[in-house]
Amino acid sequence: KTFACLLTSEPLLTQLAALDYHTPTPIQCEAIPVVLQGGDLMAGAQTGTGKTAAYALPILQKMTTTAASGKVRALVLTPTRELAQQVFASIQSYGVKTELTQALVYGGVSIAAQVEALSQGVELVVATPGRLLEHLKQGAVSIDELEILVFDEADRMLDMGFMEEVEQILKFAPNANRQTLLFSATFDDALFKLSKRLLSAPTLIEV
Ligand code: AMP
Repeated sequence: KTFACLLTSEPLLTQLAALDYHTPTPIQCEAIPVVLQGGDLMAGAQTGTGKTAAYALPILQKMTTTAASGKVRALVLTPTRELAQQVFASIQSYGVKTELTQALVYGGVSIAAQVEALSQGVELVVATPGRLLEHLKQGAVSIDELEILVFDEADRMLDMGFMEEVEQILKFAPNANRQTLLFSATFDDALFKLSKRLLSAPTLIEV
C-alpha cells in the first residue's frame, strides 16, 4: 500500500513524501479509510505505531477539502501536555501545505496567549482536558459545532482521573452527528464502558 491509495489530498501527499513517509503503517492502512468515511473508531495502538498520523491525516484531508467555518471542527484530547505538544507538532508538520488553522491548549502555562490564539477562529484544537474546560467556561472557545472528537491515549486519560472533565467538555459539544475516534494502548472495563457511551457502532482496530 501507498499513501496515494489512502489519501487524495495533493498537499498532504506532497508533504508526506517530503517527510520521508513512504509506506503507511498497519494502523494507518486500517484507520484512514474508516475516518474518511465518517465512522466511529476504537483502536488499540501503542505509541510508535503511527497512530497520530492514522487520525491526523484523514482529519486534515476532510477539513481541507470542505469549506472552512472559522469554528472548531476537530478536537484532539490528550492526557498530558507532552503528548498534546507532540500531536500538535505532528499535525502542524503534516498540514504545513494546507490552510488549516489550529491551536494548542494545555495547563501550567499562562492562559492569555491561548485565549488570543483561540480568538483567531481556529478549526482544530489539540488540548488537555482541564485547561480546555477553563477556556470553554470562560467562553474563550466554542465547540458547539464540533464534527470530530479524538481521544488519544484514552486509557491514560482514565487513569489520570480526567473523566469528570471529559464529561463536562462533552456538554459543550452537543452535535449528535459527531464522529468520535478513540485510541488506547490498553482496554479494560472502564474503557469499554466509556467507549460504549461515546462511540456509535465503532469499527474496532487492533495492531
Ligand atoms: P506515533 O505512533 O504516532 O507516536 O508515531 C511514531 C513515529 O513514527 C513518529 O515519529 C512519526 O513521525 C513516525 N511515523 C508515523 N507514520 C509513519 C510512516 N508511515 N512512515 C514513516 N514514519 C512514520
